[in-house]
Amino acid sequence: MNDILRFIGVTKDALTAGPGKRLELFTKGCIRGVVSPCEGCFNSITWSFEGKYKTYRIQELVDMISKDAWNRQVTFCGGEPILQARTLTEVAKQLKKIDPTFHFVMYTMYKLDVLMKYGLNFTWVKEKHEQAMLKQLMDYSSSYDIQAFDEDHNPTRVKYTILTPEDVKELMRYIDIIVDGEYKHELRLTTAEYMHDGGFIGSSNQRVIYGPNTMRQYDIYKNLGENYDLIFHYSDEYMKIYESNHHCKSCGKSIKAEDSYCTQLCEARYTQRKENMKLISNEGV
Ligand code: SF4
Repeated sequence: MNDILRFIGVTKDALTAGPGKRLELFTKGCIRGVVSPCEGCFNSITWSFEGKYKTYRIQELVDMISKDAWNRQVTFCGGEPILQARTLTEVAKQLKKIDPTFHFVMYTMYKLDVLMKYGLNFTWVKEKHEQAMLKQLMDYSSSYDIQAFDEDHNPTRVKYTILTPEDVKELMRYIDIIVDGEYKHELRLTTAEYMHDGGFIGSSNQRVIYGPNTMRQYDIYKNLGENYDLIFHYSDEYMKIYESNHHCKSCGKSIKAEDSYCTQLCEARYTQRKENMKLISNEGV
């Protein structure tokens, strides 16, 4: 399996990438962005598969996230992170093994129920798409079929199975919240120019899907030979619940109004983080 992640960079303590303060990692490349970008997309720098990006191996990502995600809250966004889902699944899997309190959020413009049924497929055509996409999608894909060549034997048409339905289900076992569906500017949830603290969903058509909960239900229903449903909230419904709740200062989980933290571990992490920040600002004086 491809061991590499291509990404633009990370933001620490992001407040608009899921519950609580999060380490937000921006992956490189979005097919939709290259072909026909969503109106109002805030991150055009991530669309192209060409240009500058960082490459980290799985072990480097695990080390970096273990060190920098002080409260264990991590978000994969883009670009389109699900193109690199096979690598990100492995990263999330290894981190949860090291510390089960890791919590992951991922965004994707694709609809999860469709992905669970058909996987993610794409046909690259030389005249229509970026050259860099050709090699990168080969790295990310579960399999691919070169369907046509030019006179120099270079591929001109490649059919990719980027993810199989099984790849998608495996991802869902490790990503706690997946916000799915394309961003629709006319359905934007906030009227402010920028999202505010805790407001991490772009438009009301998107859904907040609980990956591991859905997969637990899926496993039970599958064994019974019955259909299953995604476990999710529509985003406006989710945001109403989120905004009416009180949250742990460390991880952002909903807690009772009289509490500040959900666990002693969260309190210890928050206190340690504050101490570290004080040290950094004193060093800067
Ligand atoms: S909103 Fe997401 S899917 Fe749409 S163009 Fe931007 S990065 Fe791509």
